[in-house]
Amino acid sequence: MSGHTCLVVMYHYVRDSAATAFPDIRALAPVLFDRQLDWLQGQYTVIDLRRFEAALDREESLPPNAVLLTFDDGLIDHYDTVLPLLRARGLRGTFFLSQDACGTSPRLLAVHKVQLLLARLGVEAFSRALLQACAAPGIPRAAGPEVFGVAPWEDDNDRAIKHFVSHQLPFTEAERVLEELFTRYIGDSAAFAGRLYLNPGMIQEMAAAGMTFGYHTRSHRMLARLSPGEQEDELRPGVAWIRALTGQATVPFCYPWGGPHTYTRETLRILRESGYSLAFNTVRRRVKPGRENRYELPRVDTRDLPPYTAAEPPPAETFSREDA
Ligand SMILES: [Zn+2]
Repeated sequence: MSGHTCLVVMYHYVRDSAATAFPDIRALAPVLFDRQLDWLQGQYTVIDLRRFEAALDREESLPPNAVLLTFDDGLIDHYDTVLPLLRARGLRGTFFLSQDACGTSPRLLAVHKVQLLLARLGVEAFSRALLQACAAPGIPRAAGPEVFGVAPWEDDNDRAIKHFVSHQLPFTEAERVLEELFTRYIGDSAAFAGRLYLNPGMIQEMAAAGMTFGYHTRSHRMLARLSPGEQEDELRPGVAWIRALTGQATVPFCYPWGGPHTYTRETLRILRESGYSLAFNTVRRRVKPGRENRYELPRVDTRDLPPYTAAEPPPAETFSREDA
């Protein structure tokens, strides 16, 4: 068996944000995606999920410089933009879906409500509206400098308010407040979800074109904040749902947010017992088949590679980059 490694690349939005109603959503422009595919195909061999899993199972060896392309969150960009670009090159990708977003009654995930509200209002107005709407005790503490920082509003403030909503605010309170703000500032969230995410028909069309799918929890909650029973609710139904939708024999998983602190030992157990074939986090290095825990496989972000950077990050740099 060869000792070849595999680079796994993670993508989210692939769209021309400037041409949309949310120009401030951070996305990979289609022209840059195309350029990155040129670069990848010049240096690497793009493999599909079947071959990646066969390498993990030590049934097949990898080609030198293998790369697997993965796309998170079930965004409609993956049907509108990614599918035609991959098909034109004869490539296959792996797409991770949350059932609440891509099922028969789509719901807008909290992670996307935050991104869209931030893009619509800016971080200062969003932070103030959010904190005003919060009823949970102890909230004013978060209105200190660690959230608001100093003007001008910068990335640190974006990160602070996202951290507050996703890591600190109780889920039910975060969901209540985000729904209230989304309705007030943007509109009907269910209608918006119907336009933001892949629907079952699109997923089946993509599967027929050779694309593969994995699960990304039911509701995109941070697993480390849930009890084992709540984690089971988020994880258990995914294998059967993806199989029924696509006819796939194996179903991979990727963690929402993705850093090693966003899941627990219990998560790994539940994934194994539920029958997932593997799981990706966001630790930033290559996969070394045969030397990995298959439920903690690393991935790099599109922004770690050209044309954003000069080259693939060196092996020594292994830190985690969150997915939102
Ligand atoms: Zn995600």
